[in-house]
Amino acid sequence: MKKTLITGAAGFLGSHLCDRFIKEGHYVIGMDNLITGDLKNIQHLFGNKNFEFAHHDVTKFVHVPGQLDYILHFASPASPIDYLKIPIQTLKVGALGTHNLLGLAKDKDARFMIASTSEIYGDPLVHPQTEEYYGNVNTIGPRGVYDEAKRFQESITMAYHRFHGLDIRIARIFNTYGPRMRLNDGRVIPAFMGQALRGEDLTVFGDGSQTRSFCFVEDEIEGIYQLLMSDYTLPMNIGNPNEITIKDFAEEIIKLTGTDQKIIYKPLPKDDPMQRQPDISKAKEVLGWEPKVGREEGMRKTFEYFKTLSKEELEKTEHRDFSNVNRK
Ligand code: UDP
Repeated sequence: MKKTLITGAAGFLGSHLCDRFIKEGHYVIGMDNLITGDLKNIQHLFGNKNFEFAHHDVTKFVHVPGQLDYILHFASPASPIDYLKIPIQTLKVGALGTHNLLGLAKDKDARFMIASTSEIYGDPLVHPQTEEYYGNVNTIGPRGVYDEAKRFQESITMAYHRFHGLDIRIARIFNTYGPRMRLNDGRVIPAFMGQALRGEDLTVFGDGSQTRSFCFVEDEIEGIYQLLMSDYTLPMNIGNPNEITIKDFAEEIIKLTGTDQKIIYKPLPKDDPMQRQPDISKAKEVLGWEPKVGREEGMRKTFEYFKTLSKEELEKTEHRDFSNVNRK
């Protein structure tokens, strides 16, 4: 039986990965320090004989007894509001955490995958973004703590591959959405969903002409799984190339949720990328993978999830206003 360690297991992507690997017949150790993760996301796995939870911070030495076949390092804060609140932890989990897990992978002779990100391209000057593009990142901006941690993460992972012959995979994950996203992480989809459900106006930052390309979580997990099982060791973009402006997206949400809210405009956060769209030629060619779920279907499923949250949970959401903190 394959044994797989997934860090960030109580998070959005991590919890879906735990489900997938258990379904594939693996024994899964889900590790999380629960700073941004929520046990609710993996509650259904407690009691499963092929799952164990390890409450641990991967920036400290990681010990796992016995065999390990795969390590997927998906622990990290992953939203601009988190980078502002916990910048040091964001840097540490990408840098020190990755180093610890690489050491573990080397010791166990395990295949090691990192969750890299479209953020390594920064505010991109090349569109759509191919894996060959080096990026345009502000090292000292509010997003720098995440972007640079993730860039370092790619570098050190590649160094272990070249120097120690470690078997590695690097997934560059673009904006992904679906059930189990954290309502108060400040990202655009939970923000709009929460606003729609509370009857508030939808806050579009800037003039809303910036673009994103949203991938439904089922598609993303499939791409990640296929990349891990392939023999491709260079970075690969995994995302949905269907691009939309944030303003058009807000209008779609208003239609979907059937509410009569308006759009209100707030200042654009500093270093907010103006456009983002993955070039997924490589994934198509190497894996034969491409997303299958359209935005309408994916958003409908996501809205169904947010509707199951209690009134209390909905009210807990903080208002995300970057106008004071983020424009320096
Ligand atoms: N955004 C917005 N209103 C919100 C939250 C986000 O207009 O309430 C915008 C944000 O400025 C960015 C886009 O939506 O241009 C996506 O933001 P998100 O934080 O989800 O992810 P990013 O891709 O920027 O990391």
